[in-house]
Formats: sequence, structure tokens, C-alpha cells
Amino acid sequence: MKYNFGIDIDGVLTDEGPDNNSIWQQKMNEFFEREITLKEYTYDLAKAFAINNQELNDFIQAKIEEVYSSVKPINKAREILAELEKEGHRLILITARHEEHRSLTEKWLNDHNIPYHELYHEHDKAPLAAKKNISLFIDDKKENALEIAAKDIPVFLVSKYHNYDFNGNNKITKVNNWDEIKENIELFISKDAHASKLS
Ligand SMILES: [Mg+2]
Repeated sequence: MKYNFGIDIDGVLTDEGPDNNSIWQQKMNEFFEREITLKEYTYDLAKAFAINNQELNDFIQAKIEEVYSSVKPINKAREILAELEKEGHRLILITARHEEHRSLTEKWLNDHNIPYHELYHEHDKAPLAAKKNISLFIDDKKENALEIAAKDIPVFLVSKYHNYDFNGNNKITKVNNWDEIKENIELFISKDAHASKLS
């Protein structure tokens, strides 16, 4: 059986660094003339780093391309995606990054040898995941996980400070790293093969 894997980019393929010294915090510290620290465990960058929305806009305008191009890939993702590709599965990247960052994103993926078949820039991920017949989705944003799971698609939710308050459910499995993602993909495939044998 071949599967379509839906994969987010930021926080899933990228290594944003530790909670208290992430690439976002580092770049904000360079940009603002005061010390920026993580204040609140939320996905909302303005709230998380206690800056106002105007400051966030200014920061995004000035620094987002620098963040996207300089962020490092996360350990093991490339190797594990290469194995999945070799086994014949489809790797469909769905990112909420704005379409204007497409060529930068493609360059980053190529520079880091990350294999994939399709790349979509889409903020509203759940309908696209359903349309693309995604078998399993990997994301780090809790709200995405809940919406995708509501389409009856299993999700692996990568643990981050902004989803620490959610432990998962029968459709959503929390994972800490790509070793755990790999283990859970193998489990998903073997369970699915077993279920289709019974049906
Ligand atoms: Mg993400």
C-alpha cells in the first residue's frame, strides 16, 4: 500500500531551536532594541514574545526571509523522507508560508536535499489535505491538527511550547522528534495493512 503523507514545513522540517532561544527570538533580539523573551505559550508570535501587532508586522517585513532561508533542517527528517520516497509513498508539503516565499522555500528544500513531490502554500490546510487524499498529516500547530483530524485524517503533532496544553486524542498523536515520527509511521502502516486484511 502506498500512502500520501502531508507534511508541514516550519517546526516540522525546520529546527527552530529551543523554546527559550528559538530562531524567532534570536532574530527579534537582533531587530528590536530591547531584550525579547518567550512570555506566553501560544502560536501567536506577538503574544508569545509580548510585542504589539505593528512591531510584529515590521519584524515580519524585515526578517521573515532571513528566518526562512537561514533556519536549519531538523535532524533525521531528510533521511526518513528519503526512505519513504524510496518505498513509493508520496510526500506532499503543505505550508502556511505565503506564496510569495515559494522560490525561497523551494531553494531551501533543494539546498538541504529534502525530497518531496508536491509543495502547496495554503493557510487553510484541512480542506486541501482532504482533497489531496492525505493518509497521514504531520504538523506542529494544534489548530491545524484538530481541523485535519476532523476530516478523519490521522495527525502526528510535533511537540512545541505552543501545543504543550494538548496531549492528543484518538486521531492525533504527539511526537517529539523524527525518530518518533518514523516509529509511528511504521505503526500506522502495519495497523492499516492489518485492518485492510480484515475488511
Ligand atoms: Mg508549522
